[in-house]
Amino acid sequence: MAVGMAVFHDVKICVLLGIGAALPDLDREYILTNKLSLAKHQLHRALFHNIFFAFGMYLFNPFLGLGVILHIMLDMLTSPTDRGVEVLFPLDRIIQDFHLDYDGILKEKRRILWYLEDPLRVITRTTEKELAPTSKSPWVRVYGPFKNSRIADWTVFYSSIIFLILFDSQDLVAWTLQLLLALKQYFPLITGIVLFYMGGEIWRRKLQSSGKGRTIIAVLMLSGVAVLVYGCFRIFSPPSFIFDEIKTIVFAILSFLTGVVIAFVHVKKRHKIATL
Ligand SMILES: [Zn+2]
Repeated sequence: MAVGMAVFHDVKICVLLGIGAALPDLDREYILTNKLSLAKHQLHRALFHNIFFAFGMYLFNPFLGLGVILHIMLDMLTSPTDRGVEVLFPLDRIIQDFHLDYDGILKEKRRILWYLEDPLRVITRTTEKELAPTSKSPWVRVYGPFKNSRIADWTVFYSSIIFLILFDSQDLVAWTLQLLLALKQYFPLITGIVLFYMGGEIWRRKLQSSGKGRTIIAVLMLSGVAVLVYGCFRIFSPPSFIFDEIKTIVFAILSFLTGVVIAFVHVKKRHKIATL
């Protein structure tokens, strides 16, 4: 939200960014399954924490997309314990094995391999059970040095609030009124997110172990999704690309694909001369 004010000087945009930033973590609650299956599929910090989801949201509404991107960038700074971010999901799941294990032992395989093993030992010792992978896997996530809900997290939170107050200190009353109006306008979106989170969190913390109350939670979360989808369509406003921008996107995709092919041939040739 602080970015919204600093860059766009607009309270509505600021709220939209905030809502966008709340979307990625909706991938945490996965009520139809139990903890074991959650661990197996590894969807948290993957399903809605990737560049494709962010781009999709950007096409839906650029400010919502920007909020998603800011959230993902901050999560990329968090540790393996918090499970970082799987930015290339679901594409990266094509790669199912790795070349070098965490003890430095090389595997010689012919398939497409990711270079390094995910730091499984650190993850299983320090993370929540349902977030830890069930077996060794390729290093598909991006990690950083910070731990969730510690100083870095709270610094971002408090600094943003202080910035908003300082930035709008000239007319804080008018700003607050605008904020309330924006919250009213985006009420369905916010209610949807809150209902979904509430249902998911009650399930995860209280009921998942016993399996009781599944239907009530499902109804609560599904109504959250319904209100959220309705709220989303009210703010549907895709960016209008002009010819030049489309040209840039097409050139970027073309260059990337050709670059991958050339890099593949390049590495294959070099590999024949010197191994590793
Ligand atoms: Zn997140």
